Amino acid sequence: MAAYDAARLAVLLRGFSLEELSNMHEPLTMAKMKRFIVPRIGGDEAPVLLYIGVHRDHIIVFPFFCSCKHFVIRVMSEKRDKYCSHLLGARLAAEKKWYRVIDVSFKELWGIVTEIIYYGRSKTLRRKLYSG
Ligand SMILES: [Zn+2]
Repeated sequence: MAAYDAARLAVLLRGFSLEELSNMHEPLTMAKMKRFIVPRIGGDEAPVLLYIGVHRDHIIVFPFFCSCKHFVIRVMSEKRDKYCSHLLGARLAAEKKWYRVIDVSFKELWGIVTEIIYYGRSKTLRRKLYSG
């Protein structure tokens, strides 16, 4: 048995209209600020999306998973919520093309993912984004 109903979540997320998403303050702000990062390895989009936050970064496997506490605790574990704001924001960002793309090696992406899991944020991701 799955930890939560991932297929249902995918359908739910795709069901939101752009207008509905644009009326949600948090997802709209995240998307407009281009906090969603698409890593590209050798020209191919990696299967994970990165969220760069003020304090914490997250790993998103759209439309099934987000590494934020809200998702892991309230959605996956307690099943009290159906999604987190990052997944809504990612959906909006994808539709509006409000995201950034970074070219990384497999090793760099693994480093970014590891830093986010270990420390909650990635120095490597910031370096890649801000070093020009
Ligand atoms: Zn989240």
